[in-house]
Amino acid sequence: MASSPMYKSRAEREAATVWENAGKPIPVDPSKIAKLHDIEIRKEDLEEDVSGMMVTREDSSVVIVVNSSHHKNRHRFSVAHELGHYFLHRAVSPIFVDSKQVFYRDATASEGTKRQEIEANAFAAELLMPESEVRSRFPHKLSLMEMDAEEVEKAAKFFGVSTTALSFRLIRLGLLESDSSSL
Ligand SMILES: [Zn+2]
Repeated sequence: MASSPMYKSRAEREAATVWENAGKPIPVDPSKIAKLHDIEIRKEDLEEDVSGMMVTREDSSVVIVVNSSHHKNRHRFSVAHELGHYFLHRAVSPIFVDSKQVFYRDATASEGTKRQEIEANAFAAELLMPESEVRSRFPHKLSLMEMDAEEVEKAAKFFGVSTTALSFRLIRLGLLESDSSSL
């Protein structure tokens, strides 16, 4: 059954808890969630490749910085990703800088770093597209062949994410057949 809940990783469980504690807002505004946790959000003129960073200052206050030149949906994802570092990794390092390469880390990145990035992405996906909300919009499993592109686009707008991000999410939840032979 496509409706059976998936096994959640630690990062996904943490994101679900954060969302529940915020009162299950939909659509999710990650900046508001940051503010609930006294995290400052700033938009700055960063290098094009840098999407965001999370810094714990010496007085232990936290700031998340996103690239002012990036699109709104990317801001949302970046803030959610940095929140993942905040909730999962802030004890490990006072600073996380995320550049484009983060999602496809090169071989020189340590295993620990790669794991943290995968976890922060999983956190962000769960936070922005909570499992129960996605399942209620997509009660039936879709195949790429039958996928209603308009429906996915509408849902992506609703969640404030890219259609790519939503498609990955549907695959992760077992709601979209990822078989590439059907492309
Ligand atoms: Zn990161």
